[in-house]
Amino acid sequence: MIGARLTGFLYCDLAGIVRGRLVATADLERRVATGAGWVPANLSLTPFGGIAEPNPHGPTGDVRLRPDPATRVCVEFGEAATPLEFFLCDVVGTDGGDWAGCPRTFLARALHDLEREAGVRLLASFEHEFQLVDDGPPPLAFSLAAQRAVDPLGPIIVGALTQAGVEPEFFLPEYGDHQFEVSCAPAEGLAAADRSVITKEVIREAARVTGRRVTFAPLRHPQAVGNGAHIHFSFLGPDGEPAIYDESRPGQLSPIAGQFAAGILTHAPALAAFVTPGASSFLRLGPHRWSSGAACLGERNRETLLRIAPVVEIAGHDAARQHNLEFRAADATACPYLVLGVLVRAGLNGVRQALECPPILRDDPAALSPEELRQFGAPAMPGSLSEALDRLHEDETARGWLPPLLYDSYVGVKRAELSLLDGLDDAEICRRYADVY
Ligand code: GLU
Ligand code: MG
Repeated sequence: MIGARLTGFLYCDLAGIVRGRLVATADLERRVATGAGWVPANLSLTPFGGIAEPNPHGPTGDVRLRPDPATRVCVEFGEAATPLEFFLCDVVGTDGGDWAGCPRTFLARALHDLEREAGVRLLASFEHEFQLVDDGPPPLAFSLAAQRAVDPLGPIIVGALTQAGVEPEFFLPEYGDHQFEVSCAPAEGLAAADRSVITKEVIREAARVTGRRVTFAPLRHPQAVGNGAHIHFSFLGPDGEPAIYDESRPGQLSPIAGQFAAGILTHAPALAAFVTPGASSFLRLGPHRWSSGAACLGERNRETLLRIAPVVEIAGHDAARQHNLEFRAADATACPYLVLGVLVRAGLNGVRQALECPPILRDDPAALSPEELRQFGAPAMPGSLSEALDRLHEDETARGWLPPLLYDSYVGVKRAELSLLDGLDDAEICRRYADVY
């Protein structure tokens, strides 16, 4: 194939969109150390085009997209397309110092504080659900026919993700029309968020080279089955051993895991502005969608915001090494660095205050009265993005987690995003997100 090879210096922005610049791969050696130029106001780009006004950046200033060598991706698609090559970057100052607007740096700092104060490191993995943009008759849920109908998309996705180094574990036809799910092996902290970004971009590209388009948007239309980005997480102690399991305690959750879970539930209404930050995200949440019917802790319960995931004890498998919590609300309109960052901040708050492990709900929350639900600590959740931004604003602690530049940029983007949807009905709103995500 003629043409130069190109390598992207990319980052995932506040709206979860991957943007950046491309350099000639032949020039990489001299470019990697200093990165590529970037414009601070780009942090205020909305997912529907244009820069949010007002924004804290204006026309001045310069930053750099500095690649993290550990994130290098190179996926070959044979004759079908040129290789997909990129690095994920930190956004830094022109002197190489931290920039307060960088979402990846925000997560790195949260992880650093978690380790320093609580003595644990986060291990996490995202399960991404997505749908083909296809309105033809769908094959049956979970069926082999659904996988074969899109062949060779499945093998190409798994092969491409393997080349990208994200350790894919499953490719499966899901419950929704033309819906699939991919999960990858857990990774530590920053790498877990990197994997989420890489996984979505590689899947999009695998679809493109096979002549298809996929969307990770929360809903294709208001009545559809949703696309979630469930996050499984656990902790490693200073010795590198699992620090989430305690056989003697409710839910087999170690004291630190219980405190962390309580911190997440306490701040859940404010977290919604980061984990479900699209206008259509809120149509996906709610009872009997297996997304998050109530903001409480459940065991093997697909209707709770936090689920204690099952462990397998077949063939002597060690429960402590598998034990994990699943955060079910998040979707792909979110920036994975912000999502993990605010979850860590909320959890760490629970650890600092030594909160009690929340009671564990084993029933369908829809069967409980508001009074009964309150006994499970479930706070009322915002019903829209606008309400979620209000709840964030009211939660002084949560507001303080972000440096002011990042906070103001984020809220500015989200308010501008909402104003760009003014006058649209739910179906049109879903369509707008499905076109972008
Ligand atoms: N599609 C559901 C969601 O929107 C999740 C279904 C499941 O995998 O449990 O979160
Ligand atoms: Mg699923």
